[in-house]
Amino acid sequence: MTEQPIPPTTDPGRPPMLGSDDASRSTSGRPAPGDVILELRDVHTYYGKIHALQGIDLDVREGEIVTLIGSNGAGKTTTLKTISGLLHPRMGSVHFAGRDVTRTAAHEMARDGIGHAPEGRRIFSRLTVTENLQMGGYTRSGREVAENIEHVFSIFPRLRERAGQRGGTLSGGEQQMLAIGRAIMTRPKVLLLDEPSLGLSPILIQQIFTIIREINAGGTTILLVEQNALQALEVADRGYVLQTGRVILADSASALAANQDVRRAYLGEI
Ligand code: ATP
Repeated sequence: MTEQPIPPTTDPGRPPMLGSDDASRSTSGRPAPGDVILELRDVHTYYGKIHALQGIDLDVREGEIVTLIGSNGAGKTTTLKTISGLLHPRMGSVHFAGRDVTRTAAHEMARDGIGHAPEGRRIFSRLTVTENLQMGGYTRSGREVAENIEHVFSIFPRLRERAGQRGGTLSGGEQQMLAIGRAIMTRPKVLLLDEPSLGLSPILIQQIFTIIREINAGGTTILLVEQNALQALEVADRGYVLQTGRVILADSASALAANQDVRRAYLGEI
């Protein structure tokens, strides 16, 4: 991917975009998106003195797949961490399901319906597949955990075959499946996926994107961070382009995929 910056073509403060994809939805046969479930307003997040997010505005509606694209260091991972409560913004607000969760701790966000599969898989390498999944469901009752493990195994049959195997001995693709499986153990309303295709072979990337569609078809709203922008835009309803901690473009996924500046900067086209 090239790292050429692209000029902002919308007001970076408030990209007008909600509902801009309704027409494409009706042809895809999927239900129209519901109410806004996740809303970031003027979010500023820092690492010490580093001003990583510089006023992010973002909306996700129930049932959507929304993707964040942008070069390395644009702020995509930081945005997900700010939503899931791993980081808290210094300014601005995060609302989830109508509630102000700007200062809510990560374990409460997990309990209340945000699933987060972080970049780099972060599974417990010495625990078995089943134990990793149990850890993901720790906020739920024993019966629910058992049901949800069954749910994960139905989505990822490969994990069922590997149920007793230690996480660290799984292949890269299987570890990625386990990371996603663990994040959906709480049956989240919104699933945050950070680079799910990173380091996978083309065939496994296809499988992961198919599974992303399936999880979404099961009713889970998805916010997807991907370097693999073209494939992300293929599964997504809408997308945001981030550059140095700001949203510089926000549109339907099909419009972003057709945008010449986006294609040049993020889809590897000269
Ligand atoms: P990548 O695809 O490389 O992960 P990204 O778009 O996800 O990029 P972030 O990881 O969110 O970008 O980083 C945003 C900015 O914050 C970058 O300038 C990065 O260097 C900085 N940053 C990220 N994590 C830390 C950290 N733990 N400490 C200090 N600065 C950080």
